[in-house]
Amino acid sequence: MSNFKNVMEVFKLLEKTNCRKCNKPTCLAFAAAVFQGQASLSECPFIDEETIKAHGDKNDKVKAGVELDYQKAIRNLKEKIKQTDLESRARILGERFSNGRLTLKILGKDLSVDTNGEISTDLHVNHWLVPPVMNYILSSKGLALTGTWVPFRELKTSKDWARFFEHQCVDLFKKIADSSPSFFENIIELFNGRPVENHYDADISLIIKPLPLLPLLICYNNPEEGMASDLNLFFDATADKNLPIENIYTLTTGLATMFEKLALTHG
Ligand code: SF4
Repeated sequence: MSNFKNVMEVFKLLEKTNCRKCNKPTCLAFAAAVFQGQASLSECPFIDEETIKAHGDKNDKVKAGVELDYQKAIRNLKEKIKQTDLESRARILGERFSNGRLTLKILGKDLSVDTNGEISTDLHVNHWLVPPVMNYILSSKGLALTGTWVPFRELKTSKDWARFFEHQCVDLFKKIADSSPSFFENIIELFNGRPVENHYDADISLIIKPLPLLPLLICYNNPEEGMASDLNLFFDATADKNLPIENIYTLTTGLATMFEKLALTHG
């Protein structure tokens, strides 16, 4: 439970526009979630920092700080998109632009961004997804894929990230695959996983596309005859030219975390 005495005490602090930016259908529903401790005040982008400081508990303030940073970063990215010629960016990326929207495929599903930086998609819009997508639209060089697969550590700009990537991403994918290889394969296929063209000799070798020019090749071998299982992730050699390395890290680690949640709820 929160520090509030009742739902109306939270409700009074809100804009009451029912804009849904907090992912709740109404301001009242959001107020109820905050009162029950299921949401943070900072998830409403219209609540100022002073109000959060005055009403949040310690955890809420930490979460609020992270959320505020995130919202600020998103506002900056939206401003950049407003100042960008999306039609010409669509040409560079080889994507569609119509009715003021640039549309690209994320994990096999359409995601559109309009000239105000607003996103529309059937995908769940996670915090790990939005900044990489926006940065991809803003800054990807749009280089054609080479078909040469390299591990994360061999991408030129990966030096400061490689160790974290191994722990936060590769190990997590491997843990999910080890617990149920067939379920792991099903999740990849659920997100439009496709067999790799130059067949990689692994029990599972599938490509998914978190972004059109950022395919990820996942190779997994089951354990056998005293040999431990192994899992390797590969990127196209152009990856860090088509997306900044920190966004590759965020996107791939976010994907691993989403797989883990799916494995916990459905595996
Ligand atoms: S984001 Fe804020 S103003 Fe919008 S619906 Fe949620 S609580 Fe209401």
